[in-house]
Order: sequence, then C-alpha cells, then structure tokens
Amino acid sequence: MNDHPSKLTTPDLRDECLDGAQCLFDGELHDGPDPADRIEHPDARAAREDVAKDICVTCPVQAACLEHAIWTKPTTGIRAGLTADEIAQLGARRIEQLGADYEEVA
Ligand code: SF4
Repeated sequence: MNDHPSKLTTPDLRDECLDGAQCLFDGELHDGPDPADRIEHPDARAAREDVAKDICVTCPVQAACLEHAIWTKPTTGIRAGLTADEIAQLGARRIEQLGADYEEVA
C-alpha cells in the first residue's frame, strides 16, 4: 500500500482489504453463522468474536480494513478487531474531532 488508508477511496479500501485479509479463510469467523441456518448462543458468539479480534490483530490490512469499516458502517460482525458498535463510536468520535478541528481553524 502506497497511501495512508485514510487517503484511499472506499472501493480502493475494499480492494486493499481483499488483498491479504486474514478473514478470507473462514467466512463465519468474523460474521457468524447465517441466522437462517443456526442461532448462535451468546457465549459462543463472544468466544468466536474474541478469536476473530485476535486474527485481526495479526492481519496485514487492518488499517485499510478499519478505514473501510468506518466509511461503510457495518451493522454486524467483527472488522479490524472491532464490533459494529465500536466502529460506529469510533466514526462518531472522528466526526466530532473533525468538527472541533474545523472550528479551531475557522
Ligand atoms: S482486519 Fe480483520 S476483518 Fe479486517 S480484513 Fe483483516 S482479518 Fe478481516
């Protein structure tokens, strides 16, 4: 990757995420089972998400994945080591920070 993830477009980020993503080897690990197929017990879900987060820590495209997640706002699953709620909170904080920076400059 030549550019910082924050400088890439959403499609570029998606491509970066697909190039080396550690989650491509197990489709259910980060997103969980299809609810139409199986209901996941909360304890099993927590354990699965802990493993998924550990995988994200070692993923070579974690930075691009995080930027992509902030822009695309997933509602489920683990992305870049964070839950959908954690990603939403991070995105909201970033918007607040950008607003504060803008007010300081204006
Ligand atoms: S950081 Fe995690 S969710 Fe993102 S591409 Fe890597 S393994 Fe997948």
